[in-house]
Amino acid sequence: MDSPNTGNSELIVQVNRRLVLQAIRSLQPTYRAEVSRWTELNPATVTGIVSELLRARLLREVSGDFLAPGPAGGRPPMMLRLNNDARRILAIDLEPEMLRVAIVGLGIDIVEYREEVLDRHSQPNLVFKTLNRLIDEVLSRGRRRAIDGIGVSLPGLIDREKGVLLSSTNMPNWRNVPIREILFRRLGHQAKVERAVHLAAMHEDWIDKSDDNRTKLILSLRTGIGMSFVRRGEVFLGAGGFNGEVGHTVIDLDGAQCECGNRGCLETFVSADAVRNRVEKMFAQGRGQAIAAAVKEGQQLRPELVYRLAKDGDSDSADIVRDVGRYVGLAAANLANLLSPDELIVSGSIDLAEDLILAAIREQIAQRSLPQIREHLTVRLAVAKEKASLLGAAVLATRELFDLPRLTHRRATVSN
Ligand SMILES: [Zn+2]
Repeated sequence: MDSPNTGNSELIVQVNRRLVLQAIRSLQPTYRAEVSRWTELNPATVTGIVSELLRARLLREVSGDFLAPGPAGGRPPMMLRLNNDARRILAIDLEPEMLRVAIVGLGIDIVEYREEVLDRHSQPNLVFKTLNRLIDEVLSRGRRRAIDGIGVSLPGLIDREKGVLLSSTNMPNWRNVPIREILFRRLGHQAKVERAVHLAAMHEDWIDKSDDNRTKLILSLRTGIGMSFVRRGEVFLGAGGFNGEVGHTVIDLDGAQCECGNRGCLETFVSADAVRNRVEKMFAQGRGQAIAAAVKEGQQLRPELVYRLAKDGDSDSADIVRDVGRYVGLAAANLANLLSPDELIVSGSIDLAEDLILAAIREQIAQRSLPQIREHLTVRLAVAKEKASLLGAAVLATRELFDLPRLTHRRATVSN
């Protein structure tokens, strides 16, 4: 073995550097003194590390709060931010019915963005053509700088070690697709892949400024519905990491056939197809005039259309949204009883009709979850709404810069 002492002091330097980065990430814009308090490192150590990070251009200084007087009434001290330009991450969110591609900086701010509606029954080859075009578009905009990493959000079941999409009930033609290998051949980077709902959870956790590490339950309502649970910065992955399939929990013993092979799954009540089925039923009853008119004008019959019309005051669309909200709320109430999280966060495009859907979810929770559990529960929308998984993919590709080495506890670090 080589000198364990050198190893230890290098480890401490590395841990302290990442602690400072973590603090600035959470608190930004922030002052050196704040970072020192948050990390429990002494001010001189923080100043040294910050200078090094400024030289490495991972941080930038911004003008401080002019209301806060500086020492001895002088100029206010400069504040610190992550330098968004320091990294260029290619983030990809493959949702069965929507493809999102972005260049995202170190501060997890989007620099370039493209999206395109997909047909979930398409063959992978066709989707990769669209993906290549969107990648070309985001890369060719602005400075043609190389990318530093790739993060990919995937639906369905994945092999995260190999970067393979194993299967997805919502994309029946996708079986064992080697996403990482395909992207590597094109871009020369090893992409990191994760399931969409876990990435939405990762993003919410990443931007959480509270220091008490609240437990969060994320419900992601997209083409299907998924669930993730984050506690103290760790996404719960279960055995094999296939968990979160709340869409395939059975809520009706004799219900409709689900694409997973089972009957009466939650997904048969709340998926994009379930929304379309409700609309078709309305059409058959001579209702849903506003939706029919929009479709006639060439708009696609997607949940987003129904949400938008509901928000604009169409009562038939609002009925559909409330009904979807009731079932999502039923699942939410059950999950709250099981896990008792501090926060229930709903992500997806539902922000278009957030008042209606959140009201329906809150109503179910009020009726069906235990009062003691409800009392501690906050229900809200994900900050990044429909882009939560896309930004989570960027977090995944950026995270190694910030991650503390395993077996190291924050309180156990030594400042020098
Ligand atoms: Zn199912």
